[in-house]
Amino acid sequence: MLKGGSRDTGMLLMERSVPGRAGVVTPPLDVPEQPLPDAAILRDDLALPEVSEPEVVQYFTALSQQNFSIDTHFYPLGSCTMKYNPKINDEIAFLPGFAAIHPLQPPDQSQGALELLHTLQEYLGEITGMSGVSLATLAGAHGELAGVLMMRAYHHAQGDLGRTKMAIPDSAHGTNPASAAMAGFDVVTLPSDKDGNVDLEALHELSGPDLAGVMITLPSTLGLFDQNIVEVCRIVHEAGGLVYGDGANMNALLGRTKLGDLGFDVIHLNLHKTFSTPHGGGGPGAGPVCCAPTLEPFLAAPIVTSSGNGAGPSYSLSTPEQSIGKMSGYHGNFGVLVRAYTYIRTLGDAGIKSISGNAVLNANYIMQALKDIYYLPYDRTCMHEVVLSADWQRPRGVSGLDVAKRLLDYGFHAPTMYFPLIVHEALMIEPTESENRYTLDAFIEALRQINRESEDDPDMVHHAPHTTPVSRLDEAGAARHPDLRWRPSV
Ligand SMILES: *Cc1c(COP(=O)(O)O)cnc(C)c1O
Repeated sequence: MLKGGSRDTGMLLMERSVPGRAGVVTPPLDVPEQPLPDAAILRDDLALPEVSEPEVVQYFTALSQQNFSIDTHFYPLGSCTMKYNPKINDEIAFLPGFAAIHPLQPPDQSQGALELLHTLQEYLGEITGMSGVSLATLAGAHGELAGVLMMRAYHHAQGDLGRTKMAIPDSAHGTNPASAAMAGFDVVTLPSDKDGNVDLEALHELSGPDLAGVMITLPSTLGLFDQNIVEVCRIVHEAGGLVYGDGANMNALLGRTKLGDLGFDVIHLNLHKTFSTPHGGGGPGAGPVCCAPTLEPFLAAPIVTSSGNGAGPSYSLSTPEQSIGKMSGYHGNFGVLVRAYTYIRTLGDAGIKSISGNAVLNANYIMQALKDIYYLPYDRTCMHEVVLSADWQRPRGVSGLDVAKRLLDYGFHAPTMYFPLIVHEALMIEPTESENRYTLDAFIEALRQINRESEDDPDMVHHAPHTTPVSRLDEAGAARHPDLRWRPSV
């Protein structure tokens, strides 16, 4: 049951129904009356609400406002980079030349769109320090799968069929081992050392003729920059393996560090995180793959290539020689690519660099303001996000989940919880660069207040949230037995 808001949504639309009320008034009949279809296919027990148009609009608008969104709330969901999505991105994507183009339109009629894709490939190559880029993959995990398939194709092309192991740190996002397993690799876990870096000794032990490569997230999901990353790449390369970079956390590095320069062979980006295209709810995303020259022949098709013919460049779609094939129907999620292109063009060099500067500053500001009351498992300068823990609140009967739920009462979206798996009661906070100091201070004060509440009234925190339309949900039950439809109570 929903409540609150300026309009009373506590009453379901059905309950507001008044016989005879309608949203439209039809004019008197000015044509001969026609017989209705066979009575057997007509239903007269169809329970539809009889309501006016303003009631319908008010009802659904009020419902829509009960969601947390980036446009209404601070949304520090760690690892998800819920930054503000500038509206100009949408405006450009809605231009008829972009929005109405058909993916099968011949290249001579779609040079502008192809030029945009080609330029975006070049921008992403420049930002990552990689020579090859394919825009065809539709999500981060999809890019991972393409990238590890490229690694496999590379080893096979060398006649090296014995490399079956993929090493992945214990702090990795769950999609990494899933992608490696889907590509047919045996996943082995790479432990972190006490500072949160890859354990080099363990890596040495794993590096042999059966190692296909490692998948590293930089910065890691602990929000930390692995200080040994160049050494990690060197060890793996020396053993004949390749290094995959999960670039979903590029918000920390933009304009400062290029993954290609550090030794990564192939990476993916999450345009729907770092490059500000809306995401969440399974909507369209884009996870382009960028790679070093050695892996370019294996990129997923199509790639946009340009050839000069005197009268200026001409763009066409091509398939790399030893391509792993197509990963999606056409050229990727074009609308998302237009938004990311617009974002990069709007910001320019200096703007891109200021993203990472402000994102990292914001996360460290939060870390410094809270580390006296929330346990900080890795006490180092963090990157774009900080992983705190509710370990100190736990003995008072308040868990990480309780803290996250109580934050909703203060008007903040919850951080990511219980991830990465190697931190107990993890609260993973990613403020992004979008928020100003006023918002960060309010968020910090809310977390300090919740800590005081955990001492004075832990039971209240344990039963939060108290102000939302619904309190604690049976999340597993909701996923297994979704109730998607209103039924009349008879
Ligand atoms: C979000 C994320 C992914 C997965 O990206 P999707 O687009 O959700 O598939 C992979 N790795 C890391 C580190 C991420 O944060």
